[in-house]
Amino acid sequence: MGPEFILNLWKAQRMEMQPILSLKNVVKNYGDFTAVRGIDLDITEGEFFTIVGPSGSGKSTMIRMLVGMEDVSSGEIKLRNNRIDQTPANLRPTCMVFQSLALFPHMSVGQNIEFPLKLRKENPANRKQRALELLDLLRLPASYYNKRISQCSGGEKQRVALARALAFDPEILFFDEPLSALDYRLRKTLEKELKDLHDRTGKTFVYITHSLEEAMVMSDRIAIMKEGEFEQIATADEIYGKPVSRFVAEFMGEVNLFSVEGTKSEGLQGNGIEIHVNGNATELGVSLKKGEKAALMVRPEYVRFLQSTETSDFVVRGILQAEFALGSRIQYEVTISTGKTLTVEKLREDRFSGEIGSDVTLGFDTHHVHLIRGE
Ligand code: ADP
Repeated sequence: MGPEFILNLWKAQRMEMQPILSLKNVVKNYGDFTAVRGIDLDITEGEFFTIVGPSGSGKSTMIRMLVGMEDVSSGEIKLRNNRIDQTPANLRPTCMVFQSLALFPHMSVGQNIEFPLKLRKENPANRKQRALELLDLLRLPASYYNKRISQCSGGEKQRVALARALAFDPEILFFDEPLSALDYRLRKTLEKELKDLHDRTGKTFVYITHSLEEAMVMSDRIAIMKEGEFEQIATADEIYGKPVSRFVAEFMGEVNLFSVEGTKSEGLQGNGIEIHVNGNATELGVSLKKGEKAALMVRPEYVRFLQSTETSDFVVRGILQAEFALGSRIQYEVTISTGKTLTVEKLREDRFSGEIGSDVTLGFDTHHVHLIRGE
């Protein structure tokens, strides 16, 4: 093994590690309103990367800049280390799948899928072969090749739009809320199909949605966007279990948050919550200075109803206010002395038998809580 071979191997590995898409301080201003505030981001080749955020947080603006439908006000976008932020959309080797699909209704399924290949002046036989391969990839029967778009169901149209996007053979596929107009069942099916398609094609997918559930099912990493900035970029598990802010914690599903502060003896104290953590708050992986404020987070599924003989690291007393059956799970609302309402969730088989209006004691343990610094 000569030094040249090792150098080439090293170069190849470095190439692999280089992001396919890289953003440096990307800003978008509309007049004096800043919709995107200096985003830095690296997306890895083959990644399924999702941007989630409430309406108005800047998701569409971001993705429109990435595909070239919107100019950046400042900053850089690089694709494989080449600047593309000044390149018009039609000259970028990327492709966007829209919520509206933008299929040609008067054309057949086959003609729609072949459209990008026709633009590239591919010969008819190759075009048809590729269209049939893509139909197969999207698990649509070959007989659909001649079907009119108007004869396809919502889910089938969605698959045709995906097949057409893949026919472009783009470096990156961008998705702008492609499932949000579909009904619940179809959305759930297509979420899984999209994830599967991503695995099978190995392409880089960049996806935006306001639906966290959708993001969690499909993505390798999720960016939570708020007011033009990313609050947190991490895996779904990390964002769910270790959110960096109250905003992320609350955005990521039901959550119980207690305002706590550090005590002199490196412990914790908070209103309405008894803290029996042995030793000090460093057991939580964070130590708070005396008087330093934080939010103590516990997800509803980790809160238990305690028997009178039981105890736990954290204990809260309250009154059971309501019970909601959510299918396989049951959700409970408990109000505590501070007036705050807590949410507890149990599987149906572990249903709690207490009466509505009765006193209850809730408990949870250190390894299920997470501290978020700040007010
Ligand atoms: P999202 O996709 O997260 O709902 P958008 O990117 O559409 O958010 O919008 C982000 C912010 O930028 C919003 O406050 C919106 O009103 C504003 N905005 C979007 N497009 C324009 C535009 N063309 N002109 C002025 N303001 C805009």
